[in-house]
Amino acid sequence: MADQLIRATAAEGGIRAVGVITTRLTEEARRRHKLSYVATAALGRTMSAGLLLASSMKREGSRVNIRINGDGPLGGILVDAGLDGTVRGYVDNPSVELPPNARGKLDVGGAVGRDGYLYVVRDVGYGYPYSSTVELVSGEIGDDIANYLVTSEQTPSALVVGVFVEANGVTASGGILIQVLPKAARDEALVQTLESRVAKLAGFTPLLQSGKALPEIFEQLLGDMSLVILPEIQMVRFHCGCSFDRVLGALKMLGEAELQDMIEKDDGAEATCHFCGEVYQASSDHLAQLIQDLQAESVG
Ligand code: ZN
Repeated sequence: MADQLIRATAAEGGIRAVGVITTRLTEEARRRHKLSYVATAALGRTMSAGLLLASSMKREGSRVNIRINGDGPLGGILVDAGLDGTVRGYVDNPSVELPPNARGKLDVGGAVGRDGYLYVVRDVGYGYPYSSTVELVSGEIGDDIANYLVTSEQTPSALVVGVFVEANGVTASGGILIQVLPKAARDEALVQTLESRVAKLAGFTPLLQSGKALPEIFEQLLGDMSLVILPEIQMVRFHCGCSFDRVLGALKMLGEAELQDMIEKDDGAEATCHFCGEVYQASSDHLAQLIQDLQAESVG
């Protein structure tokens, strides 16, 4: 099934549900960054969570940045996801591998670390972005994001994310988020309904692994609570806005002396985009042109 995001409501509109399938885009991230198994799971979970968080924003162009800084060997994770369904991200140490945890699962919590912080920045495209920080709960990412939603955004929420990866790549990746809507957040019965669902939501990852489509997963997990699946299917994909022009722009900011030095010592410059792993080569001719531009600007 193609990567996609589907929205639904439940409990007569008091509960919002969003599901996302990110199998292909997680596989693309795995290949671009040469991620280990556990790094694939950590980044895939965070990218799914980013898309789920971005899906509730209203204004076109809105984006969510998630940064996870734990004390584990993976280092930091950074993900940038948009309401438009694009996402990109990276981990500091993509080759770190750990033995499976006590439950025989990829040890994401051990790789991320259980002590540290989760930072979420919501940017609606103008004014100051809204940012917030919480301590990590387990480093397993799903719990950490759910805890952020409850403590920082004060929205009763349940979130499950999962990634399955085998020797030849990612076989399934995705997530599901259910939230009591802000207007109904004081409705105790609704909050209890949500809490009673948390255990059932654990059934998400087996359904995901078995290749079930999102509407079917929604039906199985929420079908008994007046579920309404919205007809619009949003495609989601790995996308990075970097370009050769942007790399040249960044090189130009280094200034004339530094550029001259790169021409003489390295016969050019190589830059790698952190977010997508794309490698850009600027030749000495490109750098000489930047110097000319700088000189023309300082005269003008
Ligand atoms: Zn890039």
